[in-house]
Amino acid sequence: MTESTQPDTSTPTFSDFGLHPGILQAVAATGYTTPTPIQAKAMPVVMDGRDVMGAAQTGTGKTAAFTLPILHRLMRYANTSASPARHPVRALILTPTRELAVQVYDNVAQYSQSIPLRAAVVYGGVDIGPQRDALRRGCEVLIATPGRLLDHVEQKNVNLGQVDILVLDEADRMLDMGFLPDLDRIVRLLPASRQTLLFSATFSNEIRKLARTHLKDPVELEVSQRNATADTVTQIAYPLSGEDKRAAVVHLVKSRGFNQVIVFSNTKIGTSRLARQLERDGVKAESIHGDKSQLDRMKALDAFKAGELEVLVATDVAARGLDVAGVPCVINYDLPYNAEDYVHRIGRTGRAGAKGEAIAFYSPEEERLLQDIEKLIKVKIPRGQLTLPARPRPSRQGDRSRSYTSSTPRKPEDELFYKPYVPSSTPTRADSSTPKQPSSSSSKRSVGVLLGGH
Ligand code: AMP
Repeated sequence: MTESTQPDTSTPTFSDFGLHPGILQAVAATGYTTPTPIQAKAMPVVMDGRDVMGAAQTGTGKTAAFTLPILHRLMRYANTSASPARHPVRALILTPTRELAVQVYDNVAQYSQSIPLRAAVVYGGVDIGPQRDALRRGCEVLIATPGRLLDHVEQKNVNLGQVDILVLDEADRMLDMGFLPDLDRIVRLLPASRQTLLFSATFSNEIRKLARTHLKDPVELEVSQRNATADTVTQIAYPLSGEDKRAAVVHLVKSRGFNQVIVFSNTKIGTSRLARQLERDGVKAESIHGDKSQLDRMKALDAFKAGELEVLVATDVAARGLDVAGVPCVINYDLPYNAEDYVHRIGRTGRAGAKGEAIAFYSPEEERLLQDIEKLIKVKIPRGQLTLPARPRPSRQGDRSRSYTSSTPRKPEDELFYKPYVPSSTPTRADSSTPKQPSSSSSKRSVGVLLGGH
């Protein structure tokens, strides 16, 4: 059943949903004033106990759209008893990556601060001990990546026999990452009678199959055109190859005075190398990818969130769930092989109504990938020309330096930088309402303290 392609004419407020006062108080503390379109549509349906299949791209406010009503529905179990037996898992939220798991946990912790419901987060790549302790203390809301959750199940650290609500967040990515067998195993451990919510940036045939297997008569919700990119993001593509790509990152960051730019690279090795080279070019850069230790990834993320980095170089997987308010720009250093990854990548900017820029570099070999992306998003990405500063020739004095060391933004050589980008066609949104700017407070919170999964 599709109930949502018509734009809402009335603008609800958070108090219209009948949320518990303790939850409303926490929402007020975040500074959100108006529900985003996915919140306006999903919250009443989730409150009613219906299954949901939600096509919501990143940055739409979908986490609050499902966590707020879940917390409300769990209020009947809220209690202050110290006994673990009084705190069985009632809601299980599965995410594809550790970063997204932490992000969702962060939201749940924020929204449940003044109600007696417990939350915990478990994911791989870190010591299992503190997570085991947290699970044994009991929690009503458990956020988990599938593999680590199964480890805990095997160790009998957690029982999923009383789960009332299951959420499959970023389900498309979970399938891409090969989690389907794990998901099936986990679902078999849950009561058949439960509420199931599935969120996905895109609805592929595989996602529809997953929904048919695990959801009951779901309400289908869609807040923006499928596979569309947020209309708050302007896009441009520059033809660049090899060394020019790196010079272009340095040039864009320095000439535009960008801070907190995410640069996407396709390989783990390329990600580390680019960050090191950018550092040598005078750009404050760090990298995150799957081969780095969890601690290093957390450190890089915390520095990025705190605004201490100009550039975070990331692979697709590492950047999932990265929610930083105010990322002004993402750069596709390499174009993704999978066009849907482009949608995920540029969803890191232009979040919750803020303006963002998505810049793509494409070499002659990557032209076909660019066309695949355009076919998917049904938008022609405007092509631009970037005039790079002349490369210093290695001088006889041995001065090979090309670094930008000045902290004042350089005047761009290219007038194009001062002109607004005009897309040749604008993506349309099925929903015309514009959400408010996100509050930056949550994005500044350190995620490192959550490692123990309390
Ligand atoms: P999400 O799509 O859940 O990752 O959320 C994207 C960003 O929007 C996060 O930084 C949220 O804190 C923020 N956000 C969620 N709901 C609202 C709202 N109603 N008003 C403003 N910002 C919001």
